[in-house]
Amino acid sequence: MTHVESAHLVELALRNATPTDADAEALLHVERCDRCRDELRMLTRVVAAARTAQLVDLPTAPPERVWQRISRDVSGPPNPPRPPASAPDPGRRVLLALLALAAAAGIAVAHRYLHERSELSQRGVVR
Ligand SMILES: [Zn+2]
Repeated sequence: MTHVESAHLVELALRNATPTDADAEALLHVERCDRCRDELRMLTRVVAAARTAQLVDLPTAPPERVWQRISRDVSGPPNPPRPPASAPDPGRRVLLALLALAAAAGIAVAHRYLHERSELSQRGVVR
């Protein structure tokens, strides 16, 4: 059985694009496959959490150096980090939270890819 690719599951969870025939086919597979259904459910929860994230959802406000570090990483090395005069505005905080969640989702996808590749490698399909 060919599972739905993780990237496609992420697209299904985001539901940003108009559904295609490939999406319908993938959803048919998801209905019958526990593994893909679990992964889509998890990704859908991550997307829902990211879309409704508020700073108050954090147990404590992150230290100022966290925002400085994220700001520095996002803006790249040519720009020296700006000392924040105050905490970033709520829109920017949500954007940064989404970036962090996107990074986490990317890591999960990469982890699954490596896991699948390792399984295939053990079966001698891929080296
Ligand atoms: Zn599957």
